[in-house]
Amino acid sequence: MDFAARTQHEQQIEAAVAAVLVLYRRQIEAGREISLSELERDLAVALRLLLSNTFMAAALQLAGASGVPGFDDLENHAERYAVEQAGVIAHDFAGRVRDELFEERQRAIEDRRSVVQLADILLPNWRAEAIAITETTRAASHGMNLVAAALVTGSLMVAAAVGTGILTNRFWHTANDDRVCSICSPLDGYEAAIWAGRFPSGPPAHPNCRCYVTYGGLP
Ligand SMILES: [Zn+2]
Repeated sequence: MDFAARTQHEQQIEAAVAAVLVLYRRQIEAGREISLSELERDLAVALRLLLSNTFMAAALQLAGASGVPGFDDLENHAERYAVEQAGVIAHDFAGRVRDELFEERQRAIEDRRSVVQLADILLPNWRAEAIAITETTRAASHGMNLVAAALVTGSLMVAAAVGTGILTNRFWHTANDDRVCSICSPLDGYEAAIWAGRFPSGPPAHPNCRCYVTYGGLP
């Protein structure tokens, strides 16, 4: 089953990232030098709790549907995932802004953009939306994989240690908006043997991917 609450989680993540971006856009528009390490830190902080919530919600959906009790330790796993992934996203984001700022400084003075244009190019709102869609998909995949593996191994701790290798009985499903995607549509309905080499944790296969997996024998 798809992650039922994904729209709500996407919206929360998008709002949180967009709020950080607008702060830094305003600084650029005011002609100030932005601190990329502060941008990275603010993004990571904004994402951390929300990614943990998304991981938890998807994991609990599958755990609840399975009817199997004993997922008390899920929150620690969600937190570990969120800390690491929020750091990765924020680091990549700040690195891209750094590269684009460098390119901008290489431009001849007369070709340079206005500060308003620059702010929109470096920190556009569509990036907040892309992070929200992609990272909702990723957190849901990781949360559900952990629960599915725990249902196979009988333990969250063992499941976290063995990873997705034991989840051979997984099937890829495209979301409505991914049906025409050239990366995802060939995977639709196929089992992990076809795609796990490229995407061990399942979706996302690309930015803005809303695909999901189902697990054989589980809801
Ligand atoms: Zn997809």
